[in-house]
Order: sequence, then C-alpha cells, then structure tokens
Amino acid sequence: MNKLIVKKFGGTSVANAERIEAVADLVAKSVEDGNEVVVVLSAMGKSTDDLIKLSKEINPNPDLREYDALVSTGEQISVALLAMALQKRNIKGKSFTAYQLGIRTNSMHSRARILDVQVKKIKEEISNGVVPVITGFQGMNDEGDITTLGRGGSDTTGVALAVALEASECQIYTDVDGVFTTDPRLYDKARLLKKVTFEEMLELSSMGAKVLQLRAVEYASKYQMPIRVLSSFNAGEGTLIEEEDESMERPIVSGISSIDSEAKLTLRGVPDIPGVAAKILGPISEAGIEIDVIVQNISAENTTDFTFTVNEDDAVAAEAILLEMSNSFGGGLVEVDSDIAKISIVGRGMRAHAGIASKMFEALANEQINILLITTSEIKISVVIKRDSMKDAIVCLHDAFDLDKELDN
Ligand code: ADP
Ligand code: ASP
Ligand code: MG
Repeated sequence: MNKLIVKKFGGTSVANAERIEAVADLVAKSVEDGNEVVVVLSAMGKSTDDLIKLSKEINPNPDLREYDALVSTGEQISVALLAMALQKRNIKGKSFTAYQLGIRTNSMHSRARILDVQVKKIKEEISNGVVPVITGFQGMNDEGDITTLGRGGSDTTGVALAVALEASECQIYTDVDGVFTTDPRLYDKARLLKKVTFEEMLELSSMGAKVLQLRAVEYASKYQMPIRVLSSFNAGEGTLIEEEDESMERPIVSGISSIDSEAKLTLRGVPDIPGVAAKILGPISEAGIEIDVIVQNISAENTTDFTFTVNEDDAVAAEAILLEMSNSFGGGLVEVDSDIAKISIVGRGMRAHAGIASKMFEALANEQINILLITTSEIKISVVIKRDSMKDAIVCLHDAFDLDKELDN
C-alpha cells in the first residue's frame, strides 16, 4: 500500500559514514515497499554537544541568535551525506534545510516553537519521486534568522512535518528498541512497551525520558499523529504512541522516569501572606527560568520556607534572584542543592487505585532512600531524592511494581 511516512533518525543512528549507509538502506527498503518517505535527521553523533562546547569557549553566555546559527550547522552535514548515500542507491535523495522549506518558528532562540510548516515544495518534490532529507532541530523566524528547537528538537521537526503532510505515522528511529518501562541504560530489566498512550508519554517525557522530546509528544497528541519509536540498529515493531482506546490495558504503573540535572532552591523565612508565591516566582519566570517541583511548607511564626527545582544550569541565576528577594523580605537564608535527582512513576491505572503512593514510599524506605520532596498528578507520583540514590531507587521501584513482567499489575 502506498503510504506517506516520516522517518526521523537521531544522532547515534547517523554517527558515521557506516551508519549513514545503514540508514540509507533502511530508507531504500521502505521506498521499495512502495511508501513515500520523508526523512528528518539529527546531527551526527555528539556533534551538537561539540558545537555547544565550542561556543562556550568563546563566551559562556553566547548571543542566542549566533548560538542558533552555529548549532544548527550539525544537521546540514548529516542531511547532505544521506542524500548522497540515497543517490548511490538510485533513489532521488535531496537535502533541505528548514530555511529552504519554510519551517516557521517564533523568535525564542535556542528553544523556539514551530508555528507552521510550508508543505507545497516538499509535496512537489515527493510527487517527482524525490525523497526529501530535512534538517531536524531548526526553523526560521519572521526576521529570516535561523532558530533551534531545544535539545532533542529533531523529534519535534519529525512530528510537525508528519502532521503538515498528513503522514500515516511518524517513525522516530533511535539507539534503543523503543520506549521501555525505564531507561534501559539504567536498569537491564527494563521491558519494551508495545503501546503507550499520549497521556502517559507526555508525563514520561516531561519527567525525564529523553527518548522523545516533550514538545514532540505534545504536538503529536494535539494533532493525533501516531508516533512509532524504533531502533535503527535492530529490526522490530518498536513502541506505538497513540490515543488511548478501549482495548488497551491500563497498568497502574507503566513506566519510571528520572532526571539528574535539576537543582533544588529554598528560600527560608518568607512572610506567610497572600501573593508571596507569585512575588517569588514572577521574577524567576521573567528571567526565562523554568520551574519544576514547588513546595511551600506549613508556616511557623508567620513565616514559611519556599522550595522549588530548576534545571541545574539555571541554578546560579535563580539563586541570585532569590538573594535579592530575600534582602527585600528581611534576610531569609537561600539554600541551593544540586545533588538531587527526581524519580517519577507514571501510569493511567493510578486513577482507579489507592495505595500506590504508600507502596512507592515503602519501597524507597526499604532501601533507606530518604525523600526530600513529593509531588503528584492524576497519573504520576514524583519524589526528589539524593542523586547518588537514583539508580537504586529506579531498581527498587521497578521491582516493587513488577514492571519487568508483561501482565497488568
Ligand atoms: P536520539 O539521538 O536517537 O534522539 P536520544 O539519546 O535522544 O536518542 O534518546 C534515546 C535514549 O533515551 C536512549 O538511549 C535511552 O538511554 C534514553 N531513554 C530514557 N528513558 C527511556 C525509556 N523509557 N525508554 C527508552 N529509552 C529511554
Ligand atoms: N542535534 C540536536 C541535539 O543534539 C537535535 C536532536 O538530536 O534532536 O539536541
Ligand atoms: Mg533525541
């Protein structure tokens, strides 16, 4: 059957010439099967990391327009190489940058959002038998400047193109066999999931499962575009991420995510009066710092402690804002702890079951893992713990909820 499929390949999948040849074989096979294929690529291997490192050698806080101009170059290399490899196989591979196609974003350099994707040109190319090979991770703003979509952003390019082209599926090829119950590099008993709902994948990605960029899942969920996560190394069905339907099992816990790149900040001695939380968090968000877990303690003597977590790269800037604020409040202490990790258990079945939190806390207690903060949502429970306990926490929770077993738990 003639299907239009968007195939996105991540950095490890195109890390060297040999890998690019392997990806060309995979694309060629799909074309031979009668599909119309559009390819989206990440930069080769760790080249984006290298470009970021280089920019920081010149300026630790580089101008973000120039940062985007630099880090977007990685993808230009991989797309041209794959187009060459496809041509070697008598397939009309043709590389395009986001700029050439018109992938329009807002102007938030280094973390821009896609606004719309022009498809006229791609459609013309496809109808001429071309396999477009498109740079992931980048777009252009209304000033005509190059923007980038945040780390892992090629996933979002893949989904946005699939939506705009009304593809039947967006396939995200990576270096593991699909989405697992937890990061398979952290626990070897992690089990490959056949299906995950958008709702669960949103929580898993936002809580640290970097296998899919959060925005890609948000975009796919908004437009009901199924995503299949697959390995570019091993054949297999991978994991299908789609809307929940009646036939799907509803496990209490579907997966465990972890983040070890956040820092916890506490402002002590905050006056316990209306509006104070807004007063603290306002300047933090105005500085473009994203806040995660927020906890305000019960007050004693009309003052309270206010704690929240941010990405550790933002900890110094957030601390400076809190110090300034603490002076205006009369000098409460500001504490920063970067030695933390956040572990989250996620599952749709949690809605209908009581006692999940206590089971989680008991499993952690049995391992002598101390909980520093707790937050919950309808289908997720997160705890902040010491960073060196992260792996033990994942293992004990995976075991406690029997996630290595196929059956509903
Ligand atoms: P790519 O370069 O292909 O985009 P990423 O490094 O962004 O790949 O994402 C793939 C990685 O995500 C895997 O190598 C794995 O370590 C990690 N990962 C984290 N959580 C999960 C999970 N639940 N299932 C699968 N992989 C996960
Ligand atoms: N190359 C970019 C990064 O490393 C985008 C991506 O891989 O998705 O973040
Ligand atoms: Mg990625």
